[in-house]
Amino acid sequence: MTDGSSLTLESSVAAIDPRVANRRTGFRTKGPPAHDVLAESFGIGTVGQLLRHYPRRYIDRSATVPVGELRFRQGQQVTVIGRVKRVDRRVTRRRQSMVTVKLYDGTGTLDLVFFNQPWTAGTYREGIELAVSGLAAVYRGRLQLANQEVEVLRGDEAEKVHTGRITPVHSAAEGISTRTIRELVYRSLERLPVIDDPLPREIVADEALEPEDAALRAIHFPEDPSSLEQARDRLKFDELFALELGVAYRKRRVERTEKGVVHVSEGDLTRAYLAALPFDLTEAQQRAIKEVGEDLAARRPMNRLLQGDVGSGKTVVALYAALAAVQSGHQATIMAPTEVLAGQHSRTARMLMASVGGRDLVSSPARRPADDQPTLLDGLAAEERENGEAVTFALLTASTTGKDRQRVLEGIREGTVDLVIGTHALVQEGVEFADLTVAVIDEQHRFGVHQRVVLKEKGVHPDVLIMTATPIPRTLALTYYGDLDVSTLDEMPAGRRPVATTVVRTPAERTQAYERVREEVAAGRQAFVVCAAIDEANRLEVRAAEKEAERLAKDVFPDLRLELLHGRMRPAEKEAVMDRFRAGAADVLISTTVIEVGVDVPNATVMLVENAERFGLAQLHQLRGRIGRGNHPSYCILFDESHPDNSEARARLEAITRTTDGFELADEDLRLRGEGTLFDVRQSGMPDLKLARLAEDADLVRRARTRAFAAVDADPGLDRHPELLDLLRQSFSGEAIEWLFHS
Ligand code: ADP
Ligand code: MG
Repeated sequence: MTDGSSLTLESSVAAIDPRVANRRTGFRTKGPPAHDVLAESFGIGTVGQLLRHYPRRYIDRSATVPVGELRFRQGQQVTVIGRVKRVDRRVTRRRQSMVTVKLYDGTGTLDLVFFNQPWTAGTYREGIELAVSGLAAVYRGRLQLANQEVEVLRGDEAEKVHTGRITPVHSAAEGISTRTIRELVYRSLERLPVIDDPLPREIVADEALEPEDAALRAIHFPEDPSSLEQARDRLKFDELFALELGVAYRKRRVERTEKGVVHVSEGDLTRAYLAALPFDLTEAQQRAIKEVGEDLAARRPMNRLLQGDVGSGKTVVALYAALAAVQSGHQATIMAPTEVLAGQHSRTARMLMASVGGRDLVSSPARRPADDQPTLLDGLAAEERENGEAVTFALLTASTTGKDRQRVLEGIREGTVDLVIGTHALVQEGVEFADLTVAVIDEQHRFGVHQRVVLKEKGVHPDVLIMTATPIPRTLALTYYGDLDVSTLDEMPAGRRPVATTVVRTPAERTQAYERVREEVAAGRQAFVVCAAIDEANRLEVRAAEKEAERLAKDVFPDLRLELLHGRMRPAEKEAVMDRFRAGAADVLISTTVIEVGVDVPNATVMLVENAERFGLAQLHQLRGRIGRGNHPSYCILFDESHPDNSEARARLEAITRTTDGFELADEDLRLRGEGTLFDVRQSGMPDLKLARLAEDADLVRRARTRAFAAVDADPGLDRHPELLDLLRQSFSGEAIEWLFHS
């Protein structure tokens, strides 16, 4: 036993057991002491942090076997306990030191061989009792244990840390072995008094959780597989509970402290708009409009996420929200991540708002020369305006310049512009609103709360609707985005045909794919060819697209009209290319992934994707969403250049051909790649999940969420539960603290 004095979770690792913590690593003489290496490599300085360095895996060394039986256990992981009968040392022909320790247990003799570890002869002396674990093997007729791990059993102490048990394997680093880490963890657990439970007693009892103390001990040194399972569940619950507690706390804080605007959600404008839509709303759209309407009419501010696949009709819902603001006498904005998307939204706005006198401030007839031919739209707008129903909107992007820009900014400031459609950046920067109460933030794939924070810094507290075309797996919507209410468009407008997707791997199939493009073009349709991102700066991507365009023009489609589009082109150039393609003046658009967002050309029915194996599932899904938008059958053809052994790439391509359901794909992506890689966790400083896996632990997520919300609802400021407030402060950091307590 060590000196017996106890440790706390705050104690330094150096205090655990000087013999271990200060043990020099490497060949036991060189290198810094173990506790320094831990701090350096893993940021572990305290005992508490050490205990959260959970094992990466376990080796079952619990089965103790008589040496006499080893012969029948070849290849199995076993443990042998015996006494050292003899130690031989010699130098091999290659001038390596070789120590052979003969271990006897009454049933047979086992050879333990150590190369280049001359000190073993001194450590494993004659008469000492050893426990040895490893894979049973026979070498030149003699019994051995491969990958042996040896432990000296001292007298009555006879504790087994490294052998004879389910042994943890912690990630190690240069200068510190998993064995040293294991020993440090063991010694610290030995000297720690009972570890306090971070969760309220009722929750532990009601959820039938292992006590924290037992769980932290068992996760490192489990008695058996079932106690390991229980320990893991308990610690996963802790992680998820802390996350959900933050989510619940923030959600209720915002709801309580911020006063939203009470909007008229059903008025003349919204009624006229909905009645005049040139199509029937899907049931999902009706549901979303109802949910958004209820939020807008309520006093508490809206904080809603609207998710739905590309083409599911989110913009219709966004415009409804904007019109509710306008009919309540306020302003609205729709912010998009790119200029192309902002342009797309403004075209949709012009079309769908014609019925309510929607008029674009910049291109409105009022500004045109009088001899301009009036259009049906102009007439409608004029008529509606007389009824006092006109809605003035303006597109504001980097391309809005000169006098137009002045007019737009002025209109926004004075309140004559009702709806501003723009890019995130523009709306954040020089714009002053007269009275903004509804902000729709189209995040497309990536999103955070930054736009919202910026708006608030400008003294604006609008109702916020965040739109995303990347379906979020349910578990993620309940955890990292769990403070938002969610509306889901899980239904496509009628008449959409699912895109037929195939994977191409042979030259013959490639030829067929080009044939398909010809057939479609001959039938009056259009095609996309997408080239993959190859380097980060997209330089190679641009070159790949340029080269591919050249090759296709020369060798494959000399008779077709091709256009090239890439991210290095100026916005005006890009827009011109898109206009030509949209107008049908080109048959094939060869592009980089810039077409991923905001391209709506219903006449395009084929998409070829080069190096599809380089794309993530979410991206492939987005790309594919560019076709199948019209009434014609569409085809997505993925060229796969991956190595046949690349099972992850194969699984991705298999999933994308199997289904067009974005939610199914999102779940699959989460399963294949884990939460860390796919989604930027919305801001830094959110608690990371070490043990919990969202794709697998849906049930624990639900349980933790229910308990966390119950705790916050019973005590919204957590005034009576300082320990839970502490838990939040410990689990969240950086930006997330701001999100949690202030923004
Ligand atoms: P999203 O923003 O979700 O990608 P949009 O709102 O841009 O989708 O809608 C895509 C296209 O479908 C638009 O041309 C829109 O006018 C049309 N649309 C939207 N809802 C419906 C519906 N219920 N029925 C038919 N067409 C619809
Ligand atoms: Mg859209």
